[in-house]
Amino acid sequence: MKPINIYQPELGTEELNAIKQVFDSNWLGYGRQGTRQAEFVKSFANKIITNSFDGIAFSPANPKDLITISCCSEALFQSMQTYIEPGDEVIIPTIGFVAAANAVIANGGTPVFCDVNKRTLNVELEHIKSKVTNKTKAIIIMHFAGVPCDIERITEFCSHHNIKVIEDNANSPFSQVNVKSTGTFGDMGLWSFDPMKVITTGDGGIIYCKDKKILQDIKYRTYLGLKGSAKSNPVDDKWWEFDIESPGSKATMNDISAAIGIEQLKKVDTFLAKRRFIHDVYTKELSELGWLETPPDIPTGTVSSYYMYHIQLPTETMRNGLAKYLRTRDIYTTFRYYPLHWVKYYGSNIKLPNAEYAANHTLCIPIHQSLSNNDIDKILTTIKSFK
Ligand SMILES: *Cc1c(COP(=O)(O)O)cnc(C)c1O
Repeated sequence: MKPINIYQPELGTEELNAIKQVFDSNWLGYGRQGTRQAEFVKSFANKIITNSFDGIAFSPANPKDLITISCCSEALFQSMQTYIEPGDEVIIPTIGFVAAANAVIANGGTPVFCDVNKRTLNVELEHIKSKVTNKTKAIIIMHFAGVPCDIERITEFCSHHNIKVIEDNANSPFSQVNVKSTGTFGDMGLWSFDPMKVITTGDGGIIYCKDKKILQDIKYRTYLGLKGSAKSNPVDDKWWEFDIESPGSKATMNDISAAIGIEQLKKVDTFLAKRRFIHDVYTKELSELGWLETPPDIPTGTVSSYYMYHIQLPTETMRNGLAKYLRTRDIYTTFRYYPLHWVKYYGSNIKLPNAEYAANHTLCIPIHQSLSNNDIDKILTTIKSFK
């Protein structure tokens, strides 16, 4: 029997054929010059809703507001390079991704960790408010497990206080609040397509930003700072000449990744339906047990991407025990995200009681589109037999 993975991509012949076509074309799309790269952005934009008028009329994202990037961690670094200066403070929920704090420090800022809701593990406006000082320049928030946080109130508060909002949308690629996609509420939204996410391109990401100047600057900075493309100089010029806009590095997406992404997008509605199905079965079967907590209901008016399913046990001993019990029976579980204020390197000695409770009681169990009905049965029977 193969072990049941906690995260797993679902890739098939469609993706393989798409890669073969890229090979056959002999043009793998250096920089952002691939035809698949552009097509991926367009297909992706069609899945993202940016404007919703009372939930009646809505419009997809403009592909011009999106750029591809090598990964979401790089996007976090780019966001901090855009918005902060040395000495600035950036608020990050402690249940967050390591690259967020790294990006703040790498740009001379100070990460200020805040607490989250003990059950949803999402940040709430009150947690952010309690950490705001006159040095606060930005916040980097996420939508834990794919369930949207209270993003409307958070963005309203932040725009009043001149605080930039970066939405790390890696957990919530297709989540919505009142028929508007998460990732489009803040000043900048960041997506990840690494192999553990809802859809994958191998590695890869997307940045959404309405500010054309900022997006253009990031384009330069992540493609060697080149002003034009090597290919765009006409043949009657010396096409090898160039100039740069900035001393940029290189963090683009190639056409092999984009070709995989295009096929993944065609399947994403099925992926999300499967994840939702598993979520509902888990909640129905596990909420009856009485000795564990299933995740809180998904708030009305919101749509989840069902990226993770987290249960909470009454004690840390039980949580650790269940994790080992499942692992020895070939079922992998994990806890996300290890609190950043506990990472020694960041040198924080504050107490954040809700996050600490969550870190000691929570276990994420497998929820992904590759799970078979047998896998789901096995996970449920094994959990039920613990105790
Ligand atoms: C995976 C993940 C990232 C990083 O994405 P990469 O594309 O792997 O760099 C960032 N934030 C969160 C919340 C993630 O889960």
